[in-house]
Amino acid sequence: MHLLNADLHSHSNVSDGTLEPEALARRAADGGVELWSLTDHDELGGQARARDAALALGMGYLSGTEVSVSFAGETVHIVGLGVDIDDAALQGGLASVRSGRRARAQAMADGLARVGIVGAFEGALRYVGNPDLISRTHFARFLVDTGVCSDTHEVFRRYLTDNKPGYVPHQWARLGDAVRWITGAGGMAVIAHPARYRFTPTVEYALITEFIAHGGRGIEVMTGSHSAPEQLQYGDTALEFGLCASRGSDFHAPGESRTELGALPDLPGRLTPVWEALAPRIQRA
Ligand code: AMP
Ligand code: MN
Ligand code: MN
Ligand code: MN
Repeated sequence: MHLLNADLHSHSNVSDGTLEPEALARRAADGGVELWSLTDHDELGGQARARDAALALGMGYLSGTEVSVSFAGETVHIVGLGVDIDDAALQGGLASVRSGRRARAQAMADGLARVGIVGAFEGALRYVGNPDLISRTHFARFLVDTGVCSDTHEVFRRYLTDNKPGYVPHQWARLGDAVRWITGAGGMAVIAHPARYRFTPTVEYALITEFIAHGGRGIEVMTGSHSAPEQLQYGDTALEFGLCASRGSDFHAPGESRTELGALPDLPGRLTPVWEALAPRIQRA
């Protein structure tokens, strides 16, 4: 069970990836993935297509989403795995999280216009596959393709993070709400890429303990966002707090994502994989 090639974090063009769910499923299968989850940001719109494609390719499938949360002044991502995609409270919660994205994008474009980058709203929209889900990634692709920056990481560093011209602070979901939407829909809540947050140890402890108090049960250990020392560190965190461990590339786009689908190292054997507890939720052909 440990050595299952599970990739439980990835994005299609229903959020800020570039591939259709079917093409992403094909790429996962080609990468040797045996259990897959599409986890579009704040969206379930690609789930039926992803599941159908996964089952046709012989993979197991766990439904998924990645919920944007505001915690201690930072954005934290909570992955929900094995959720019932027809659950009304989850659907309503995700719709409420998506609802502010368009106005935020307009404000981001206004900020970029003030430093001489005009037409960014319309420019970003050309990259959007789902008009309800305009993200910073779409702005980043526009600024790369128009030659303002040489890659998306440079765009984020110069324009789209704290105190930079295209950054607009935003209120996402509350941690407890996100965890309850996921667990209420029969799924498991998982803290995504924990090393990405710039929290002090005290605030990180608060995040994990509050997450558990609300019913959260998993944490990503193997993710495209973690260095090898961070994989070890968060493996220890999973053991310390009794959390299940997850593995997922966070693949977004060919040529953009550094970690390919299915290519991460296996979870260390001392950890309990999320897919053990989620076994009844796995869909198979
Ligand atoms: P948003 O939900 O609109 O705030 O966009 C967040 C998305 O931007 C993340 O899910 C990543 O796909 C992408 N992102 C965030 N930080 C970076 C970065 N430093 N470099 C490249 N992509 C990033
Ligand atoms: Mn993303
Ligand atoms: Mn994320
Ligand atoms: Mn992600």
